[in-house]
Parts: sequence; C-alpha cells; structure tokens
Amino acid sequence: MSHDVIVIGLGGMGSAAAYHLACRGARVLGLDRLRPPHDRGSSHGRSRIIRRAYMEGPAYVPLLRRAYELWDEIEAQTGRTLLRITGGLMLGPEDSQAVAGSVASAREHGLDHELLDAAGIRRRFPPLRPDDATMGVFEPLAGVLDPEAAVSAYLQAAVSAGAEVRTGEVVESWESHGDGYRVKTRGGAFEAGALVLAPGPWAPDLLGDVGRSLVPTREVMHWLAPTGSLDPFLPGRFPVFIWEPAEGAVFYGFPALDGAQGGVKAAIHHGGGPTDAESVPRQVTDADVRAMRLCLSRWVPELDGRHLAGAVCLYTNTPDHHFLLGKHPEADGVALVAGLSGHGFKFASVVGEILTDLALTGATAMPIGPFDPGRQMGG
Ligand SMILES: Cc1cc2nc3c(=O)[nH]c(=O)nc-3n(C[C@H](O)[C@H](O)[C@H](O)COP(=O)(O)OP(=O)(O)OC[C@H]3O[C@@H](n4cnc5c(N)ncnc54)[C@H](O)[C@@H]3O)c2cc1C
Repeated sequence: MSHDVIVIGLGGMGSAAAYHLACRGARVLGLDRLRPPHDRGSSHGRSRIIRRAYMEGPAYVPLLRRAYELWDEIEAQTGRTLLRITGGLMLGPEDSQAVAGSVASAREHGLDHELLDAAGIRRRFPPLRPDDATMGVFEPLAGVLDPEAAVSAYLQAAVSAGAEVRTGEVVESWESHGDGYRVKTRGGAFEAGALVLAPGPWAPDLLGDVGRSLVPTREVMHWLAPTGSLDPFLPGRFPVFIWEPAEGAVFYGFPALDGAQGGVKAAIHHGGGPTDAESVPRQVTDADVRAMRLCLSRWVPELDGRHLAGAVCLYTNTPDHHFLLGKHPEADGVALVAGLSGHGFKFASVVGEILTDLALTGATAMPIGPFDPGRQMGG
C-alpha cells in the first residue's frame, strides 16, 4: 500500500491531522475538493475565539489545555503568529450557560477567571451596555486564532514533514479493501491502511449513518465601523466576548484586530437556518444585517455603525451540539471528526493529534469518551 493514512478534508481539522501524522513518520496523503484555506467551508473569516473556561462543559477542558500547547508548537515550528491573547468576557444572567457554564469549568479545573457585576463590566469595557442583572466572567487567557493562517501553516508544515497533498480531489466514497481502505475520487482511487475523515460541513455526504443526524447551518459574520472612536475597541482595551442576554440567544464579537480598516467583527451564534455546503446562499442579505443590528443596538450601541463587510460560513451541528470525535462506529481503521457545532476551531491543534493517535494506534490517551461518534443523542 502506497500510503499509511489518507486524510479526507484539509480544513481546520484535516490540515492539523496531516501535520501530526507526517511528524510521526506516517506516509500521509491529504485530499481536498478545494484548495484550503478557502471560504466555502467553516474555517475562514480571519478570527476564531479560543478560551478554556468552557461554558459547553468541563469535559472539553483537558483537550483545551493540550490545544494551547500545540498552538504554541505550530507557531514555533512555522514562525507564524496564529494566536493572540486578548482576554475574553462571557456575559449573561447569573444562571445562563455563558456565565454559570464558564464558572463551573473554571472552578472544576482551577482556571484563572474573574467575576464582574454590571457596573464592573461597564467600567472596564465602556462599549458594552449590560443591564443590571448581567454578570461577566473574564478569562485572561482567552484570545483569537487566525483560521486561514492556521490552515496554511499546518499544510505547509505537513508538506515539509513529508505529507503529500492533492487539492481539487473530490472524494466520492470510501470502503474497506483488503487490510485497509480504498478511497474513490472523481478522478481515480487511492488506498491506505487507515483513514481520517474531516469533511466539515460536507460530512453528511461522507460519514454514512453517523452523518445522518448532522445539520449544516448558514451563519453570517459582520464587520462594522463604530459610530464613535475605535480606541475603546482596540486589543488590550477590548476583549473577545460572548453574550447570552436571553436563553438560547447568543452573539459574540472581537476587538478591532486590524485597526480602522478592518472594523469590529460580530456575529450571532446559531443565528442561521439549515442548509448544505453546496447550495447555501453565499450572499449576505439586508435581513442578515438587520438581525445583527437589532442585537448590537441594544447591547453594544456604538457598534451599530457602518456595515463594512459580511461573509457566510457554515456550522455543522449535532443534536446535542457536542462534537463527534473518535473511531467510526462501523469501520475500525477510520478516525473521524465532525459536528463541531460552531465551536470547533480552537481545538484543531489537539484534534489533529487525537486523529493521529487513533489512525496510527487505534487509541488515544486524551479523554474523548463523551464525543464518541456512536453515542445515542436525543433530537
Ligand atoms: C461564523 C463562524 C464562526 C465560528 N467561530 C468559532 C470560534 O470563535 N471559535 C471556535 O473554536 N470555532 C468557531 N467556529 C467553528 C469552527 O470554525 C469550525 O468548527 C471549524 O472551522 C471546522 O473545521 P473543519 O476542518 O471541520 O471544516 P472545514 O475547515 O470546512 O474543512 C473541511 C474540508 O473538507 C473538504 N472536503 C469536504 N468534503 C470533501 C470531499 N468529498 N472530498 C474532498 N474534500 C472534501 C472541504 O473542501 C474543506 O476544505 C466558527 C464557525 C463559523 C462558521
């Protein structure tokens, strides 16, 4: 067999897997239908939040500790800056997931954090206008990753470590074949001892039964110019923030990372409807902009200024919004990641390592039990 492992999909997750596999000496072939980094999947838009006091559950924290270490490693390896620590603020009523969930993870894992009341939030971050019942959890080590730079750094480092990368290869199917697997593309076929599947929002096409419960959604990012000075939004003065004013309604934003030219990025989390990666409308509409403004005019009114740009991105959601990460339930030599439900990018570095462990040894020391792709999920 000419390859040990074929990685299908070279976005955030697959590019990191190709790198870790090549570093362990595996003969790796990476395939992608497009040419990553690109803006058709889930890993574009110049910024992604990274944080450890994880509101989505303490089970993610051990992975996050390792993720930070591995982001440092790939930065050192490639000499590129991918991660910028800005501090992060999670806001909402005291019993919201944003506040209660972040505090629970921070306490269970002994992570640095600070609780702020509404007056404290207004004093420290004047553009934010919480009502009196709002609390904030400030995490000093939260920050921002650059997704396009990260994908290109991982691909470059993977190739330097010996991986073969083929772009413009659309995988149509895979099947077990002899001691390994055969992957059919539009143009031909490839064989390997093991597979890594990281197809992002195209996952429903490639994962068989496991993919049936996955729902891609259309999510819009916005860049806005503040109505007044940009100064209070500059990094150092303004954090990344995630705000849950009411149950289930969440929006988030970033500091002005690129100065006046780039403006301030904000978006609604799980704001969009079901779609699929091929037919999703890519145009940002007036209705998209109105929904964002409605939210900002109430909570960050200075951001209700000129709309500089917008872009469509895709989430791939599981019913419980927790990841699928582990071995394919019907194929022992296939490791997969999917259904990252809009919060996966920060984990790309450690997911790449976990997929490598699984593909090369069939097991990993990282605690991924809760993310078992074969688990039962309520609707
Ligand atoms: C608007 C938005 C904001 C987000 N914010 C955050 C955040 O702040 N923090 C955070 O941690 N996460 C965030 N996320 C989520 C995070 O970005 C995603 O979880 C992550 O990018 C998913 O990476 P991926 O590798 O699974 O998918 P992708 O990067 O989309 O990669 C999948 C790749 O597979 C290829 N592919 C698919 N099918 C085939 C096939 N049949 N043959 C060959 N190639 C194929 C595609 O071309 C693509 O390159 C956000 C996502 C969006 C959309």
